[in-house]
Amino acid sequence: DDAHDKAAHADGAPPPGARDSDALVVLKNVDKHFGALHVLQNIDLTIGRGEVVVVIGPSGSGKSTLCRAINRLETIDNGEIVIDGKPLPAEGRELATLRADVGMVFQSFNLFAHKTVLENVTLGQIRVRKKDKKTAEQRARALLDRVGVASQADKYPAQLSGGQQQRVAIARALAMDPKVMLFDEPTSALDPEMINEVLEVMQQLARDGMTMVVVTHEMGFARSAANRVVFMSDGRIVEETTPDQFFSNPRSDRAKDFLSKIL
Ligand code: ADP
Ligand code: MG
Repeated sequence: DDAHDKAAHADGAPPPGARDSDALVVLKNVDKHFGALHVLQNIDLTIGRGEVVVVIGPSGSGKSTLCRAINRLETIDNGEIVIDGKPLPAEGRELATLRADVGMVFQSFNLFAHKTVLENVTLGQIRVRKKDKKTAEQRARALLDRVGVASQADKYPAQLSGGQQQRVAIARALAMDPKVMLFDEPTSALDPEMINEVLEVMQQLARDGMTMVVVTHEMGFARSAANRVVFMSDGRIVEETTPDQFFSNPRSDRAKDFLSKIL
């Protein structure tokens, strides 16, 4: 139960020292094409340790491709992506290790359907982080407790609600002790009544100082959790500013147009 942590940061402020400026994820001049389509155009983006960056923008603007590139689920054509000082390698064992440093939660709950909730959260710890089963299970139970689904440990994903499955997906990613967590529209496929239970877990993670890149249309989350908003349109970063600035005074016509449609 995380009631204790919540009380400790009841004012919603990040814990002292959680936001310092040194770079954890750096994208330099990143380009990506899908055939003739230039989906990422000269992207420069630096994400500091402990920073929460919310990426928003119209459908098809390249947000998912950006996330997938950071996790090397997509190759890039030009430029460089550096995670904690190490350039993303093309392949091999090194890539598996670096990828484990980048936790990812997708829109669709992509848990292993034929594994229990507990197994979903222990598997990577055992295979990638080389932990023994008992240590992995202890950690898994603690994380399931943290996201509020400890009592579901022995069930299979299909027996859980969407909100519960997405919280298990967060626990599974956290079990790898990632340096950064990427969320690609984690609440878009959820029934409305389940959105908040997932956003609350993400809010808590942000307060605990996790470095996060969050693609979302949940503007309430962006306002309250983000240190920075990155607005993408047609494969480019069009604006990059504080949530206050972005929502009260968007500079570009594209951002104004986007906000007028969703707010
Ligand atoms: P967003 O997440 O902002 O909606 P995406 O990154 O998913 O945008 O997609 C950006 C553009 O790239 C879209 O036009 C999409 O259709 C296209 N795209 C994405 N993935 C592929 C792919 N594997 N092959 C071809 N085109 C793709
Ligand atoms: Mg997308």
